[in-house]
Amino acid sequence: MKKPKLIKKIQARSRDLKVMNINPSTMLVESKSDDLNNHTVTVQFMPNGEVRTNCTCEWSTFKGVACVHTLAALEHLAARKGRTLSFWLTEDDAKRQKQRIFYLTHERDPDDGIWITSRAG
Ligand SMILES: [Zn+2]
Repeated sequence: MKKPKLIKKIQARSRDLKVMNINPSTMLVESKSDDLNNHTVTVQFMPNGEVRTNCTCEWSTFKGVACVHTLAALEHLAARKGRTLSFWLTEDDAKRQKQRIFYLTHERDPDDGIWITSRAG
């Protein structure tokens, strides 16, 4: 499992990407590196608060979690419910926020991931 080290930077970049729902769990996300091809992100919400994702980009193909497209897709879903997300590399960082916590993993490698906190607004 690969994790991005500069998660805040990736989140900032994700805000520029256009996202379109194909169905409730599948989104097309604009690719900045390849204008002709969008990426497809799938999101599964597990009952235990785990969020399992997959993306068609190269990072995700090699089991990388939390690519810029996945973050854009998750923020898109959250925004529709009036929520804002933050992403954290450690559980301690996430717990310090005292907000609802989700655990983001790759659908083919769910044992290692990053944490998401969600707040209103
Ligand atoms: Zn991706």
